[in-house]
Amino acid sequence: MVRRALLLVAVAACGDNAVLVDAAPRDVPPAPDAAPDAAVDAPPGTPDLKLIPEEMAGTLILANEAFGGGACEVIEGCVGGPGLRRLLKFDTVTANGGTGDLVLGAPPADGASDATFTWSACHGHHHVTGYARYELLDDTGLVVAGHKQAFCLQDTQQVQPGAGSRGYNCMNQGMSVGWADVYARSLPCQWIDVTGVAPGTYTLRVVVNPEGALPDADPDNNVFETTTTL
Ligand SMILES: [Zn+2]
Repeated sequence: MVRRALLLVAVAACGDNAVLVDAAPRDVPPAPDAAPDAAVDAPPGTPDLKLIPEEMAGTLILANEAFGGGACEVIEGCVGGPGLRRLLKFDTVTANGGTGDLVLGAPPADGASDATFTWSACHGHHHVTGYARYELLDDTGLVVAGHKQAFCLQDTQQVQPGAGSRGYNCMNQGMSVGWADVYARSLPCQWIDVTGVAPGTYTLRVVVNPEGALPDADPDNNVFETTTTL
């Protein structure tokens, strides 16, 4: 039951269902007098973005799915084209193991993008720019890369006992110390399109904050790698 609840919250992060977003649990509501983009009582310090390998390793699946020419997945380049595609899907779980919150704040107005947020006309909301990179590699290097991934950063799952959430969500984005953002494999674009990739053994590599655009105390824990067979 816990797992199902987490998936519903994660779907709300990049889905179309505003009701689900509103139903997401918020342990600590923002103070009424707080500025919309201000963290409430965020501890001073530096965030440390990191991937949680034990929550990602067992989640890889292969799936065949068909997409019409007007599908957001096609328009946003998450698949190489319309029609039947073969997808390597997996969960991405990133946590803040640092001493301060990651605070991104409120996205700009609908239709506008800035250095942190890219407006997705197809999804009708903003995505965090350059948050993660997905790659499939073989012995010689990169075979295929994933689409630039579409995250709305929020407190989805508590990972440190007792850690308090400042209630970050898609309207006031960030990640509290001791909390994780779970992007489930059921979400759109949460995959690498491996259509046409030859059967064999490959390495899936996920890198969070690959360009170092976000404050991050320890970039050495930002990579997850696992072997997979296509
Ligand atoms: Zn989206």
